[in-house]
Amino acid sequence: MKVPSQPSGSAGETDGPEDRLRRFVTIWGRAIFPVTATSLTRAEFEGHLLPLARLLCDALLARPFDTAPAQRAGAGLVDAHCTDPDALGRSLGVVDSYLVLYCGRDDGLGGEDLRARCARLQHAMATGYAQALRERTRAEQESIARSALAARSAAEIALHATESRFRAVFDGAAIGIGIADLDGRVLEVNNTLTRMFGGVEGHVRGSNISEWVHPEDGPHVWRLYDELVRGEREQYRVEKPYYRGDGTVLWTNLTVSLLRDAEGEPQYQLALMEDVTERRLLHLRLRYEATHDALTGLPNRTLFFERLEKAVTAGPNGEKGRFGLCYLDLDGFKAINDSLGHSVGDRLLVEVADRLQSCATGPGEMVARLGGDEFVALTTRTDGERDVAGLADRILAALSGPIGIDGRELTVRGSLGVVEGPAGERTPAEVLRSADITMYRAKSAGGNRFELADPEADARAITRHGLTTALPTALERGEFFIEYQPLVHLDDGSVHGAEALVRWSHPQHGVLGPDRFIPLAEDTGLIVPLGRWVLQEAVRQARSWQLENPRTGGAGPLRVNVNLSPTQLHHPRLVADTVDVLERAGLDPGALCLEVTESALIGADEDLLKPLRQLAEMGVDIALDDFGTGYSNLANLRRLPVSVLKLDRSFTRGMQQHPVDPVDLKIVEGIVSLAHSLELAVTVEGVETAAQAARLREIGCDTAQGWYYARPGAPDRIHSLVLADAV
Ligand code: C2E
Ligand code: MG
Ligand code: MG
Repeated sequence: MKVPSQPSGSAGETDGPEDRLRRFVTIWGRAIFPVTATSLTRAEFEGHLLPLARLLCDALLARPFDTAPAQRAGAGLVDAHCTDPDALGRSLGVVDSYLVLYCGRDDGLGGEDLRARCARLQHAMATGYAQALRERTRAEQESIARSALAARSAAEIALHATESRFRAVFDGAAIGIGIADLDGRVLEVNNTLTRMFGGVEGHVRGSNISEWVHPEDGPHVWRLYDELVRGEREQYRVEKPYYRGDGTVLWTNLTVSLLRDAEGEPQYQLALMEDVTERRLLHLRLRYEATHDALTGLPNRTLFFERLEKAVTAGPNGEKGRFGLCYLDLDGFKAINDSLGHSVGDRLLVEVADRLQSCATGPGEMVARLGGDEFVALTTRTDGERDVAGLADRILAALSGPIGIDGRELTVRGSLGVVEGPAGERTPAEVLRSADITMYRAKSAGGNRFELADPEADARAITRHGLTTALPTALERGEFFIEYQPLVHLDDGSVHGAEALVRWSHPQHGVLGPDRFIPLAEDTGLIVPLGRWVLQEAVRQARSWQLENPRTGGAGPLRVNVNLSPTQLHHPRLVADTVDVLERAGLDPGALCLEVTESALIGADEDLLKPLRQLAEMGVDIALDDFGTGYSNLANLRRLPVSVLKLDRSFTRGMQQHPVDPVDLKIVEGIVSLAHSLELAVTVEGVETAAQAARLREIGCDTAQGWYYARPGAPDRIHSLVLADAV
């Protein structure tokens, strides 16, 4: 214990008792003044200590000896705000060293007696101090509790009109509810909110909202809060993260409303919190999966198009940055795939992806995989063609080293089409078309090189453009035909129906898949007559299967699925045409399922949904195709007139791995159970192996489609499948 040195002159024999008492007080004051939380001056503070010193001094000499005054002196220290623990220690040190010296008089008490008394006085003083401190803390707590109670009953009065209803809602709500005053002190929370924060009531109630800052808070969150407590806004709604007591993060949809008293003065804030943590994780995951290539981990076509769109669009004030695009297609990749197998092909693609990525790592640069062996590098760090040509050179150099797989040295080469230019002049589709055409020029010039885009060469090319112009006559000339792929019940393997998939038998290019021409037909509007033709054909086909089906004697359960494009959805005659087609063929509406992609319905309003609703009411099934790729809001499903979810192939692919990624599994299970709880059947696409089929059956999927059962084929193949089924 540090005790100040004895003042000069010591306890002079010549001073009177009062002088000596004052000098004791001076020493005491010097010792503890630095650790008190007082606004007094040192002299004023010593004025408070003087009566305490007198108590001690008198008690030291009193007959009979009594320690009670020392207890009061201890309590007096607390009253003088000397509540720092150090203050007591230092005081005891001062008493121990100086009390006998300055206050002891030789009036019959021996030195030993005085020392013994002094020790007991110190104990008493410590006891008095501790008691007073405890009392004070309790009093403080009580006063806090009282004011909280007062505030709460005021809140209850303010809410009086709807009191009982509010209570019921408050206590029973599945949503977290809390009430705070305008200083942010949390007065009331319901059980749901406590649970959301980890179940420890004290963590939320009694805390202050201003403590709940999270690094991911948007800047507007606290601005809205300030506006609300100042009474400048009635409500705000944000997505906000919080730390739970255990440090994990809780994401909420938060709605805060201002409660005013009868005079209209702001009084409380009412917060409604919905826990969206799980949903957010699922969304992030779905969003990630929807925007990244599963094999290489690179951004996929979707994400690339988002970036390309930004890069080729002029800024909001018309500013035109430049962009550069390298479109890469590997030379001879198909040969590697065919001769060495897909797994070698896949590993090669992964290595290529890594090498490409190392060529474009700066800000404003990205590498993506468009599919198959097609990659792109996009940059906004360019001042002209030379910069992007430099990037293309780097890419060719990065590819030039051999790639070792399974002890084999493989050589990869690529052909690149390079486009460079100012933003604001071309659409993303035009830019990509130009890059694609240019890449083909590099390939036909022998490959392992890049070419720069050239508008004249673009004009001569007959890729997309050529197909687009040939489309209308193709329909007239009957160049389209339909293949059917069976849909199978997962539980017993029986055929449930078939999906109609259109193909184009092109006079020069051979059979083209729908991915090549459906987007073009969409762009040009030809999709409407083409789609109507597919519907007619498919419905007619379904009817003839039924008539030929010996098992059902004519009115069998065999159904047909037909894909609808977004444009068809918007077409005013959709319902009328469909009814007409069904009636002409004599097919029951219940035997038709129309497939609509999830992305076509994202953000769909009632007007768009109305025709689908009408069809659904007639008994036509509506399926949500490629579900899981559009990262739409799962909660929206309820609003849509769909009865079937078709899980995208990417999920099925996940069921192929050994062991299956537990998160993948959870996601699929989650979607299936959500779908079932909304009374939707779940169909899975792209089932290629027995293992996938078994897993998906276990998870509870209803029907499946994929090469494992059958590839798309001629209509009579379905018929024989059904016949086999019947036997
Ligand atoms: P979709 O509706 O999702 O059709 C399923 C696609 O997956 C078909 O490709 C099918 O051949 C393919 N597929 C089926 N099983 C497997 C499998 O086990 N593994 C793999 N890797 N693929 C499998 P397809 O025929 O190329 O059709 C592509 C897309 O074109 C269709 O996707 C559909 O969105 C669209 N489409 C096809 N026909 C039409 C049509 O008549 N009208 C419209 N608007 N779109 C159509
Ligand atoms: Mg489909
Ligand atoms: Mg699909």
